[in-house]
Amino acid sequence: EVVVSARSVSKSFGNGAGVVKALDDVSVDILQNEFFTMLGPSGCGKTTLLRLIGGFEQATAGEILLEGEALQDLPPYKRPINTVFQSYALFPHLTVRQNITFGLEMKGIDRKKANARADEMLELVQLAQYGDRVPSQLSGGQQQRIALARALAPAPKVLLLDEPLSALDLKLRKEMQVELKRLQTETGITFVFVTHDQEEALAMSDRIAVMQAGHILQIGAPEEIYERPTHRFVADFIGESNFLSGEIFSSADGAWSLRVEGVGEVVLAQESSTGKLGKVTVSIRPERLSLGHESEQGTDRLKGVVANKVYIGTDTAYRIHLGDGQPLLSVRVQNANGVTGHFSEGESVSVCIPSDAARVL
Ligand code: ADP
Ligand code: MG
Repeated sequence: EVVVSARSVSKSFGNGAGVVKALDDVSVDILQNEFFTMLGPSGCGKTTLLRLIGGFEQATAGEILLEGEALQDLPPYKRPINTVFQSYALFPHLTVRQNITFGLEMKGIDRKKANARADEMLELVQLAQYGDRVPSQLSGGQQQRIALARALAPAPKVLLLDEPLSALDLKLRKEMQVELKRLQTETGITFVFVTHDQEEALAMSDRIAVMQAGHILQIGAPEEIYERPTHRFVADFIGESNFLSGEIFSSADGAWSLRVEGVGEVVLAQESSTGKLGKVTVSIRPERLSLGHESEQGTDRLKGVVANKVYIGTDTAYRIHLGDGQPLLSVRVQNANGVTGHFSEGESVSVCIPSDAARVL
């Protein structure tokens, strides 16, 4: 049930100074009825990929398929694909209902049916009583809902959404996140959503593609991307991560350990390592670490000294000095847990690294 596929898609733009490679050999399968998100920093190629799917740009190499068929020669308006932009692009002089029926009538649907469909869509976005207003009489959030209603009205197979919430203030944005998710679930239409906001991506998506500089680095469910990042960029861009450099070796009893130069050794779970031996970088989430008294020792602990601590309400954020030449280790301790978190600056501690907390990159 693959709906949209990109197969080895590259896209270059020529400008006066030279050639910009916006996408470099990107492949992805987007499934029916999923909320799929492209996540990455500004300029990584998210909009370009959407525009290729929508048919507003042609790939330099590779192809875009819809349900297995190449889309090359199909102009945008003939694709069963619709787009919602950040700017709602509503017609200011038409009523809300006319904004929705306009596209339907262009497709040859008669006025009566188009009106009925518009009212159904207004119902869906919970603005049934607003059909006779003009857009300027609506709030930003309401206008965004109308733009969604308009895009969903022809029942496209795929809805493309390019940072549709970025113009909204935080509170409205959170509301619209829930609303978008509901619309996707209720209509069963495949949503391809673009954002540079990692929290938004984690909260809304069935799957996320993390992009950097024209490449897709990793595709997976939110928890997979967060818990098992495959690249340093992914671990860093989504949430906070510690990066420790060390050497993996397998000891006599068959356990895998990470030796951190000048600091010590900790045991790694089998699934944390990728079977790599020798020099590696591991990523560790600050909230997976905990602190204990310096007298606590074990194969899951490293010694350190509290460099600083910051109280941030729900948590206390510690920075731990492990050894010279090593980056400070971030440790997040939940304040609800009470006593375990209370160490002072300059105090020697032991840092507990659960064997499955470190991911080899
Ligand atoms: P994003 O949406 O992730 O911010 P874009 O897809 O808009 O990124 O852009 C990716 C890269 O391609 C950027 O370096 C951008 O400057 C370049 N680019 C995009 N569109 C054009 C264009 N029409 N002409 C020249 N360069 C472009
Ligand atoms: Mg963009």
